[in-house]
Parts: sequence; C-alpha cells; structure tokens
Amino acid sequence: MPRVLTNNLGVSLGGTLSVAGLGVASFRYGAQVDNVTQLEVVTGTGDIVICSPEENTDLFDMVRSGLSQFGIITKVHVQLRRAKPRVRKYFLLYDDLGALMKDCEGSMQPGDETIHSLESWCSPCFQGVKKIGEGMELGEGAQTFAYWMYPLHVTVEYDEGAEPNDAEILGRFSPYRHTETSDFTQHEFCERLKPLFTLWDRSGYTEMAHPWMETVLPWETAQEFIELALSQLPPQALGPGGHILLWPSRADTSKAPLFKHPDGDFVMGWGILPGVPQQFLDMALTQLDMASELSIGFGGKRYLSGYITFNSAEKWEAHFGSETWARMKEAKRRFDPDGILNPGFIQYE
Ligand SMILES: Cc1cc2nc3c(=O)[nH]c(=O)nc-3n(C[C@H](O)[C@H](O)[C@H](O)COP(=O)(O)OP(=O)(O)OC[C@H]3O[C@@H](n4cnc5c(N)ncnc54)[C@H](O)[C@@H]3O)c2cc1C
Repeated sequence: MPRVLTNNLGVSLGGTLSVAGLGVASFRYGAQVDNVTQLEVVTGTGDIVICSPEENTDLFDMVRSGLSQFGIITKVHVQLRRAKPRVRKYFLLYDDLGALMKDCEGSMQPGDETIHSLESWCSPCFQGVKKIGEGMELGEGAQTFAYWMYPLHVTVEYDEGAEPNDAEILGRFSPYRHTETSDFTQHEFCERLKPLFTLWDRSGYTEMAHPWMETVLPWETAQEFIELALSQLPPQALGPGGHILLWPSRADTSKAPLFKHPDGDFVMGWGILPGVPQQFLDMALTQLDMASELSIGFGGKRYLSGYITFNSAEKWEAHFGSETWARMKEAKRRFDPDGILNPGFIQYE
C-alpha cells in the first residue's frame, strides 16, 4: 500500500500533492509529497516534463506542495510499503492534552515501529451555559462551554493468527480511559471514515460551508495554543458533524521544500473543520482568521488546503520564508510566465 494515505480517499492525487497529503502514518513517513519518486507535469508553457529527486529537481521541488502554481500533475509514482492484512485499533480517551502528547512522543521515537498510526481529536463534553457578562443574551451575558477531552486512536498491524499483545500495547499509554478495541481488515481501516461521510450527508453537514482552518504548530507551544483556542470556542460553533483534528508527528519526516512546518523534534497539526450555516458564515470567517493569526503568532505554519486569507505578497513570503519565496518567484517566471496556472491565489508582487 502507499506509505501515507489521506483520511478522505475521495480526494485526487494531483490535488493532494499540490498541498502535501497528510495521513495517520505521517508521523512515521512524512506527507505524501515526501513519498513521491517521480512526477509527470505539464507546465504553464505547455511542456510535458518528467521530474524526480534526480531529474529536473527544480520543478519536482516546486510542484510538490506548489498549490498548482507551476504545473499540472498528470502522472505520479509513489513509494509503496508492505502492509499486514489486519489492523487492531485501540480507542483511548485523554482528559489532559499534555498527557496525550507525552504518550505520542513515546510512540514517535525513530526506530520504534510498534505503532502504525496515530489519530486524534479535540472532543467537546458539553457543560451547559456559563455567565460571561450582564444578562442572559447568548454571546453577551451568557455562553455555552465545553470541557475538552482528547480521543486518541492507535493501531497495530498484524497477520491472522499473530494478534498483538494487548497488555503490552496498552502499557505504553496512560489515558483517562481505554474505551474500545476493534479489529479491521487493512482495507476497512483505510476506509474508516466512510461512515462519517455518510453521517455528514444525513445530518446536513455536507450542504453547509466548510471554512476549514489547519495549522502545524511547534510541539513546545501546541498545548498552550490549543487550550487557548478551545477555551474561546462555544461547542455549537463546529456545527453538526464538525470536528477538530490533532495531528501529532515527528518534524524530520517531511523535507519537501514548499511544505512548511515548524522545526524541532515533533510538531502538532491542529485542524478545525466546522460546518457553518450560511447566516453565520461571516462571523465564523472572522473568528477563523483570528485563530489563524494566533496560530502563526505561536510559531505555527498554516496547512494550505483550507480557508486561507493570505492576501498580499508579504504574507506569502512570511509563510514560505525569504529564501523559498525567492525560489518560487523565479520558478513562476520560468514555468508559468503568463500566469495561467491557478491565477490570483498567490500574489507575487
Ligand atoms: C473531506 C476531506 C478530507 C480531507 N482529508 C485530508 C487529509 O486527510 N489529508 C490531507 O492532506 N488533505 C486532506 N484534505 C484536503 C485535500 O487534500 C485538498 O483539498 C486537495 O487539494 C484536494 O484535491 P482534489 O483534486 O481532490 O480537489 P479539487 O477541488 O478537485 O482540487 C483542489 C485544487 O487542487 C489543485 N489540483 C487538483 N488536481 C491537480 C493536478 N492534477 N495538478 C495540480 N494541481 C491540481 C487545483 O489547484 C485545485 O483547485 C481533505 C479534504 C476533504 C474535502
């Protein structure tokens, strides 16, 4: 199987490689862009170019996470890995983000191959209405609030008849509760979110606006940012079916030049994925902008697949850094001189 699969298997390879392609195995293998061995690309000049780590490297480096600015990806070679046919998933629940992060660190050490995937969320436990000012008007005098819990799903792959040692696996973690253990075929595991997408359709979530905001935070500031952001978030703002993802990873697994993330041993991805009814969209977008700016203030780098409001060359340069930005401007002149690819999304001047 491919070393990294995205959560949603309905996305296209070309589109996902234009962002990065994160999955529950990224803590070990990096993003999909780190696991590509060759691409066929049609540039803005109409040339069909094969590129790889050995050949036409300039284009290879610009197209991966290149937000479709330099070429259209028309063929992809990805690295595969051997996978076992069955997957055991342990459902763990944490009441403390710091404890979850400490346990994840233990499973993300280089050379430790016991755990095959880590998947986590911030999950609101609704607490009712608290006072925030005078009177009982919602949002003025009173506000709903949640106590946030953190589910962590951990998997181990195995062959039929060689089941994992549960006590040994669970002994590596210190959750508030171990709520469930389930066995899947490898194929079922890859499709694990299919029932969620069905629920999205049934609940009306699919029909709503999805201004998703994802960011990759330094490990050192992640807990403070996440707890601060959650403390400001009334649980109903996520909408029915909306959720908040956590993406713990080692930082050194991803080296694609345009996929920007903080340095350090570990990083934490955080994605707020609301479904917003049209009448609340303006308010939600303002709040998401504030969360985006706050995450950048905490040293985070936005994951560029969702709602992005970088609206000036300065903001894009700040995201990519001066050196990479200069490379991108040069590549744009070379591979798309007429600016016909994804025009208007990035401001170069
Ligand atoms: C439900 C859901 C779950 C997701 N889960 C994940 C996840 O787990 N991990 C993750 O990393 N991302 C995830 N994403 C984000 C996804 O990877 C991006 O939205 C991606 O851009 C989707 O590409 P697409 O081609 O399928 O979509 P489209 O809407 O068809 O394309 C999006 C953009 O990608 C570019 N593009 C598409 N095809 C090509 C091509 N061949 N060459 C160059 N550029 C191209 C274009 O700029 C296009 O506007 C998820 C998205 C959704 C909706």
